[in-house]
This record gives sequence, structure tokens and C-alpha cells, in this order.
Amino acid sequence: MARYDTLIPVNVITGFLGSGKTTVLARLLRSPRLRDTAVLINEFGEVGLDHHLIEHARESTLLLENGCICCTIRGDLKESLRDMYSRSERGEIPSFRRVVIETSGLSDPVPIAYTIMAEPVLQHHFRLANIITVVDAVNGAGQLKTYPESVKQAAIADRFVITKTDLCGPETAASLQAALARINRAAGVYIAATDELDPEQLLTEDIYSPDVKRAEIDRWLGGHGGEVGPADGPDNGHSHDSGIASFCLWFDGALDWTAFGIWMTMLLSRHGENVLRIKGMLNIAGVADPVLVNGVQHVVHPPTHLDSWPDADRRSRIVFIVRGIAQERIEASLAAFNALANSVTASAAE
Ligand SMILES: [Zn+2]
Repeated sequence: MARYDTLIPVNVITGFLGSGKTTVLARLLRSPRLRDTAVLINEFGEVGLDHHLIEHARESTLLLENGCICCTIRGDLKESLRDMYSRSERGEIPSFRRVVIETSGLSDPVPIAYTIMAEPVLQHHFRLANIITVVDAVNGAGQLKTYPESVKQAAIADRFVITKTDLCGPETAASLQAALARINRAAGVYIAATDELDPEQLLTEDIYSPDVKRAEIDRWLGGHGGEVGPADGPDNGHSHDSGIASFCLWFDGALDWTAFGIWMTMLLSRHGENVLRIKGMLNIAGVADPVLVNGVQHVVHPPTHLDSWPDADRRSRIVFIVRGIAQERIEASLAAFNALANSVTASAAE
């Protein structure tokens, strides 16, 4: 298999109906830096896009044996992406180095992520890149209260773009931002009306881009302060409307890589539908540099390394966004796994 960081990155732009996804995408595509980007659109958008390589797909899903909704191969995407790839190989369409998928407003983006990462042919050519969730400031807070799809789109975001802040008061925009932060503080926030929407910051900067890994880690952990501060208190990273909690766990001492792997596999097989995101920087026994882990429900990227620790703090830190699972439970089970691994290592050494 090709090296993970050489695969074609696929960004997902999601957001509720009327949130202005297509407008955001059109703005990003104006950048010459996205010239070699293919766009795959799941619905006919609110505005026409002017771009040289656009494909449309009709939504279709294949539920897999295990019955988990997130572990679903989206037949439409499978066909479209395979087809685009082979046509570009044959020179029938321009070659592309990135794909942006615009989802339909009501779709769950996780099966899209799963399709890219788990479909046997696609995973040899493509990898998942940042998920951008567009939220409309006028209706966003109401949608988060009413529609589970909207909460899910927020929970798995790597970036938020907030639109229509010019159509509402600053209080409305601020309260939406607070609601989003209760669900997901590990995503960068951009205001469409006032921020430059830089395609690199939104689409290309992720932990598999060697030059910007560090900036991405700051985004992950930035929302969680340097310490277990008030932001990680029992009530703050918790959205009562949705039951979704976002918190950061810190671990002293090195983690055993095998034990961590088994623990994470078990956590995801048991609770994967409710573990919406995991983003972590780990101190692994016997490894000098931090190991980065990144997961969206059952979709887990291969681990990668940071070339050095950002500062003197060597603790592992893992951001979780979960639904209905207590922070203490996750903390206790990982600590137990690690203690067990350490005792096995210690007795083997005797
Ligand atoms: Zn699943």
C-alpha cells in the first residue's frame, strides 16, 4: 500500500440544508491553490459552481453486516471516486491531487469517511482529510437542538465555518459558537463574513502534512487549555441538549503501545457509535517522539509521529468527543489497561 501521506486527500464539506456550504466551497475554489482539486457533489447545490472538474453523485448506501450505521460503504461515492480515479489515470479528465466532497444537508458524514478509509480499492488511492462543517448563525443553534444529524456534523468537524453572522446579532452568533464549543472544542472556527477562508488552513493543513502538523496539534488541544482547567470541568464541555461531551484526558508516564491499541479497539468495538472523535498526542514507551492518533467513530487513521515534543510536558493527552459515556469511565479503563501492561512487562523482566 502506498504511504499514507502520499494518498490523495479527500476533504468533506458538510452542513445543514441552507447553511451555505456551496457558497463556502465556491469561495475556496477561487483560490489557484485548489486548481488541481476534483469536486464531488452529492446534491444539486444552492448556487452553481464554476470549476473545471465537478462530478455529481446520487446518494446510495450499502449497510454492512455488522449493522453499524457508520460502517457503511456509500455505493455512490465508491463508484464516483473509483471512476474519477481511473478516468484521470487514462487522461480522460485532468489529473487531480485532492478531492472535496460536498455532502447533502441531511447526510451523516461518517459513512463518507468510512467509505474512503475502508473501501478496498479506494483506500489504496485516497485518504480522509479535514471535515469542514458549515453552520448558519441564524438557524444553527435551533438545528443543533432539533436535528441529531446537525449535532453529529458538528461533533466530527475538524473545522467550523460559521455563515450568516451578518444576518443576526452578535449575541446569536456568540451563543452558537458556545454551543458548538460544548460539542467540539478541538475544531478551528472561521467566520465566513469576516475571516479570510484560507484553503490551506481549512482543507490542506492536517496531521499528515509534515510542515503543519504542529499547528494542527495546537488546534486539537488548544481548545482544551494547557491543564485540566475549568474548560474540562464536569459541566463545561457537555451539551445537555445532545448528550455529547467533549473532554481531554491527560496521562502521566508512558503508555504501552500494544495495550493502548487493544484498549482503543475494544472501546470502539463496544462504543464506537458513541465515540464520535478521538484526537490524541501520546507518549509511548520506547518512542522518543509523540505519536498522534486520530479517529472518527470506527474510522481510525494510521498513527503518525510528530518529530519532537512541542514543549517540556511529556504527558499523553487525548481529546474525546463522546455521547453518553462518562469521562471517568474512559479514564479508568485506559489506566487499568496500561497498569496491566506495565505489570506484565515488569514480571517478564524479573
Ligand atoms: Zn461503525
